[in-house]
Amino acid sequence: MERLVVGHLFPDYLNIYADRGNIAVLVRRAAWRGFQLDVQALGADAEIRPGEHDLFYVGGGQDREQALIAPALAALAPALHEAFEGGAAVLAVCGGYQLLGRFYRDQSGEEQPGVGLLPLYTIAGERRMIGDVLLECELEPRERRTLAGFENHAGRTILDEGAEPLGRVVSGFGNDGESGYEGCRAGRAIGTYLHGPLLPRNPWFADWLLAQAIAHRTGTEPELEPLEDALEARAHAVSAERARSRGGKF
Ligand code: GLN
Repeated sequence: MERLVVGHLFPDYLNIYADRGNIAVLVRRAAWRGFQLDVQALGADAEIRPGEHDLFYVGGGQDREQALIAPALAALAPALHEAFEGGAAVLAVCGGYQLLGRFYRDQSGEEQPGVGLLPLYTIAGERRMIGDVLLECELEPRERRTLAGFENHAGRTILDEGAEPLGRVVSGFGNDGESGYEGCRAGRAIGTYLHGPLLPRNPWFADWLLAQAIAHRTGTEPELEPLEDALEARAHAVSAERARSRGGKF
């Protein structure tokens, strides 16, 4: 089996709403395509050698957990930037997404340093944005897909001028409850507020991430053969319906 290396950033601090489940999905879907995922937990002072990791993953967390690790995560910025420029893929969810931007000013007014890998910053607002979310995305030209998940955040994320969002909000709050956009995409790096966990109910997106990681490892974009995914499609449909019926309302 060919090996893919995943760097799971601060798994003991940033892991709410079963975000860890995203890793389990990647491990299974990779194995069904003949790849063994070697998942490495990366914490403070982690050694990140250029080219070693094909994918980095970071989950969500409450302001308290974010504050505990933000300086240590920001200290990994040079190595993460080098890995990203080397073509490694990235998935960052909610609190992790916020800390991949330049900073997160939390509900206490504390400014937590970010990695500065994504062109954005975040400022916490009074009211939390909670509920089911449905997005329309186009990660590949002329391939419109939907992403369904769950959001719970006080942070309002502002993308820089010209930055690419992950998708258009069909139902839900998204980055700030106003712009109509959610998440951010910079090449193979994706940041999103979507929990759930996200990947079990959005298998196409799990495969897109896997394909980016395989392309980093092998140098070529793979054609992953589709899997049966009936249960995943059902989970997506239920989640999307919930979002349509009640997403984006305070
Ligand atoms: N603590 C951050 C916020 O409230 C992120 C929350 C999360 O990861 N769900 O916005």
